[in-house]
Amino acid sequence: MPATTRDPAPRITKFTNCRLPRGNQLVEQDLWIDSRSGRILKDQEAFYEFQLSPDQVVDLGGRILAPGLIDVQLNGAYGFDFSVPQSTPEEYEKGLHEVNRELVRTGVTSYLPTVVSSNPEVYWKVLPSLGPSGDHRRAEDGAESLGAHVEGPFISPGRNGVHKVEVLRAAHTFQDIIDCYGADNIPPRSEQTYGAITPPPAATSPIKMITAAPEVGDMMSNIREIVSRGIIYSIGHSDATYEQGLAALDEGATMVTHLFNAMRPFYHRNPGIFGLLGQSEYETEQHSRPYYGVIADGIHLHPTSIKIAFNAHRSGLILVTDAMKLCGLPDGVYEWTNGERIVKRGARLTLEGSDKIAGSSATLIECVNNFRRWAGATTAEAIRAVTEIPARMLGLDGVKGSLDSGADADLVVLGETDDPDAGPILTVDQVWKFGVKVYDAEKE
Ligand code: ZN
Repeated sequence: MPATTRDPAPRITKFTNCRLPRGNQLVEQDLWIDSRSGRILKDQEAFYEFQLSPDQVVDLGGRILAPGLIDVQLNGAYGFDFSVPQSTPEEYEKGLHEVNRELVRTGVTSYLPTVVSSNPEVYWKVLPSLGPSGDHRRAEDGAESLGAHVEGPFISPGRNGVHKVEVLRAAHTFQDIIDCYGADNIPPRSEQTYGAITPPPAATSPIKMITAAPEVGDMMSNIREIVSRGIIYSIGHSDATYEQGLAALDEGATMVTHLFNAMRPFYHRNPGIFGLLGQSEYETEQHSRPYYGVIADGIHLHPTSIKIAFNAHRSGLILVTDAMKLCGLPDGVYEWTNGERIVKRGARLTLEGSDKIAGSSATLIECVNNFRRWAGATTAEAIRAVTEIPARMLGLDGVKGSLDSGADADLVVLGETDDPDAGPILTVDQVWKFGVKVYDAEKE
């Protein structure tokens, strides 16, 4: 029997006349979603088995319907910095919620709020608010945390980038790591873990990913314990040699943080961390190639560097913004932490009175457009780098970043337009979270 009662919010939505990214291609196909479960339906199942008829049919006029975008490295946005505690936890969470509601409008439906190297007191204050949203599946909350990314403080003082040197540390035992981040912010050890390569199911403790330099202190001998807690270990801000990088992979590292930036540069006699991408597809499991983050903002990396990395290891490339709190704010001059001022012009941030780069505030869809143009990636490949691939890296295959039935109905409708400077670009026309439309560019 067809559904007769209709909720104020339509329950079953059928998208039609749309193109879905499948593998490296865009395929014309309908998609059915359910706002009650917040998940994608199997179309034949919806129609024949449950005898459902859609409460609404959305004709996308040939546009692209893709999974919601995932950013695994975002330091803040809309004036809010995840690494800066507020006067009260309530004040902090208020700011965080505002970021989530704004961020979702850019097409980012889930992300890892990223905390830069800080004193332990900062982690103890901010991390409890940054954990995965878990069972709180509320579309109106906007973008959802998949857990915090702690970048540092166990990093190389010589590869600190803009991290403050005075807060950097070296870990010798796992207790040093617990003491720094706080015991409650680290998932408990899982008894079901076999070896370091397969992380246990996602835990609800705040930390999801740690960026650390394997060669600093005794970090190398702690990687296995970190991974056994269900935390992704990412090599970054590191002076590691190629051999140290390989050793870290053997211990369970599966990710590289912002490839090329803040690491030993590629050298033909020692290819460094970049060399890890040179492993063959068919190496032993121990030396499987890592996933790697790339900041395609036009500031951090030369387009050709991105192209070389992509050609070396296509299925590992994850686009990240690494954007900071000025992301999403209008162009202008802003106060900075140490009394200096920053000029924001588009994605580019410079210190006032100089040309010195102070960071980036590109959005993830801008990075997708840059990457597609520079690396010669197909549209579907560029979309995979912010959906399917980060989800797989996080162990959320088939839950996020996917259009398979049962996956969360976090979706973006992408239009295509011609930018006078950049040429053909994708635009975020609509955003859906848990099966509910939360943004429509036409209604703004
Ligand atoms: Zn960094």
